[in-house]
Amino acid sequence: MTVDKHGLIIKGVGGAYTVLADEKRYVCNARGVFRNTKTTPLIGDKVIIAITSEEKKLGTLHTIKPRKNRLRRPPVSNLDQVIITVATAQPSFNAGLLDRFLCLAELEGIPALICVNKADKNFSDESFLPYINAGYPLVYTVATESRGLDDLRMRMVGKINVFAGPSGVGKSSLINALMPKLNLETGALSIKLDRGKHTTRHSEIFMLGKSESEGFCVDTPGFTSLDIDTINKRELAGLFREFVPLAAGCRFADCVHHQEIGCAVKAEIGGAVNPERYESYIKMLGGIING
Ligand code: GDP
Ligand code: ZN
Repeated sequence: MTVDKHGLIIKGVGGAYTVLADEKRYVCNARGVFRNTKTTPLIGDKVIIAITSEEKKLGTLHTIKPRKNRLRRPPVSNLDQVIITVATAQPSFNAGLLDRFLCLAELEGIPALICVNKADKNFSDESFLPYINAGYPLVYTVATESRGLDDLRMRMVGKINVFAGPSGVGKSSLINALMPKLNLETGALSIKLDRGKHTTRHSEIFMLGKSESEGFCVDTPGFTSLDIDTINKRELAGLFREFVPLAAGCRFADCVHHQEIGCAVKAEIGGAVNPERYESYIKMLGGIING
């Protein structure tokens, strides 16, 4: 008789899936049933495995529980938090780019934490106030000096986390600082090399501490594509979280907060709506062709 266990896929290479269950790691093969249904098990999947050898820590993966979300790059499911990382300098802070990343997080339905790295450089907190006002949690870090890491770690507890954000902001440095055993390459050169290696790179989920309850982090930063071409204007309006509660007050139910009269979002520019966030929105709105 085999014993079933509930677990989490943390690694998958060549059809062998490493499943963490009851703080132990089992190497599992996937049943043919997934091939028939064209479902590929993903890291982040919550699964049920049948233990085939407790001694050798082997099992067979037979059930994938429903996914709450999934990212395409890196391929990972069930994310609890995306840590959108920006730098204060080198590269200099680009509000429009942060807004796009935040929209992607909203689109994927993954709560975002903003991590402002390179806080050792000169910068003004005021650039980040609009995000705090919009309701986003925010931490300041200096990855290279391990500053702010306790605060960051505290916000990652009990969650499956993934880093995202522009190149060069310090994502790999942060991942290394949080999980020194990983020893990821950092710096512009390694980024280029990494891109070339994309086909062979397998992402993994790592435990942030000694037990599962301390939370997890994906070793590969995600979300590099900023494509939101597939959405329409109404949907875009829903991705700016501070617009959502105001939109109920717009005269027209299908208001996209642009040229309509009686727009409650536009009425709040300078108040609940930050002018730069609104400007980002208008820019993105201009890029949408399908209605
Ligand atoms: P990634 O492309 O987002 O993964 O960025 P990296 O982690 O590769 O970092 C890019 C460069 O920024 C590297 O040279 C890092 O040493 C440097 N860096 C990372 N974090 C900090 C920081 O907090 N302060 C400063 N001054 N430099 C940092
Ligand atoms: Zn409106």
